[in-house]
Amino acid sequence: MTTSNDARLRLDSLAVHAGREDLQSLGVHATPIDLSSTSPLPGVDAGGEAYEIGATGGDPSGISAVYQRLWNPTVARFERAFAALEGADAAVAFASGMATTTAVLTAAKQRRGSHVVALRPLYGGTDHLLATGLLGTETTFVDAVEHVAAAVRPDTGLVVAETPANPTLELVDLAALVAAAGAAPVLIDNTFATPVLQRPLEHGAALSLHSATKYIGGHGDVMGGIVACDDEWAHALRPIRAITGAIAHPFSAYLCHRGLQTLPLRVRAQQAGAQRVAEALAAMPGVRAVRFPGLEGSDPHGLVGAGRQMAGPGSMIAIDVGSHARAAAVAEGVRLFTHAVSLGSVDSLIQQPASLTHRPVAAEAKPDAGVLRLSIGLEDPADLIDDLERAVAAAG
Ligand SMILES: *Cc1c(COP(=O)(O)O)cnc(C)c1O
Repeated sequence: MTTSNDARLRLDSLAVHAGREDLQSLGVHATPIDLSSTSPLPGVDAGGEAYEIGATGGDPSGISAVYQRLWNPTVARFERAFAALEGADAAVAFASGMATTTAVLTAAKQRRGSHVVALRPLYGGTDHLLATGLLGTETTFVDAVEHVAAAVRPDTGLVVAETPANPTLELVDLAALVAAAGAAPVLIDNTFATPVLQRPLEHGAALSLHSATKYIGGHGDVMGGIVACDDEWAHALRPIRAITGAIAHPFSAYLCHRGLQTLPLRVRAQQAGAQRVAEALAAMPGVRAVRFPGLEGSDPHGLVGAGRQMAGPGSMIAIDVGSHARAAAVAEGVRLFTHAVSLGSVDSLIQQPASLTHRPVAAEAKPDAGVLRLSIGLEDPADLIDDLERAVAAAG
């Protein structure tokens, strides 16, 4: 049996095998779920030593796992596997994407400073967290990579961006962003692309963050978050996770780890379907505009088409149907799509960001009320196109 640490393994093989190196020696074929909230300690002094290791970001398992909030073997497996897929030293898993973002902002503040430069558009929750300053950060929002360099200050702890961005599918040139950020570390929300299509650390980003609730889990039945980074960031993040109680539950980590095995297959099949749906939408009367990185016009710098940054366009589409009333009629008129927030599942979802995911976002950064966001699943694209055609026509 090969090991996933074998640098020669390609992404699809890593997806299947990483984080499972010891299964053979354990005599099992599927990964165990270790649910213990506490673990026996070999002695008072050794227990204290293990606690110290866990609480300061290390792996105490050579002595004892101690307590689930500090360290958990099932979570650690998912982290090892995910780090391999992102080409990172390490990864740190959390209870949700927002818990991950919270820990990264806290770590950035501790390590470098409390100022953040955020490139809009961002996921609504991220925008909201930054705009409220809830964590004691001060954020300068910019709307183009060209404005990042001027916004960076000596106390800038983090530059935050998302590509493809939520909900408009705008693309950010990572190399240009990293250059503009200078010494400030760059955090990329890589939820839409997944490591199958884009690995931000290869382009100079310090951190690649995911809502694992989406494509990683992939079946709409688990919440989680994870960030891939170097060992130093991981060492800063783990104590914050332990103190704030934000670690992923072992069952969540198990499902996310299992999700990695089919991630490349799902991502490629869903994006092939999305390409067909996007092309049909572009020709559909009643649809004013379609944003999909696989369409000419949505990828002006060749980040996808020329393979400069992404290995494919993904399976998220944004359309503009012209008004709030028409967007509502389409979202309420579909039958095969589910009208729901979230994305990245095997089934297709549709939602109007202005009313839902981007509700708390400031007016100047809120998407138009006529915009709908579609997450394409694994259904036959012809059925999805039929469903949209019917709903768009009925919307008048
Ligand atoms: C859903 C989402 C988040 C937040 O993740 P949760 O798991 O819901 O906390 C962050 N970024 C993007 C792009 C998302 O889609």
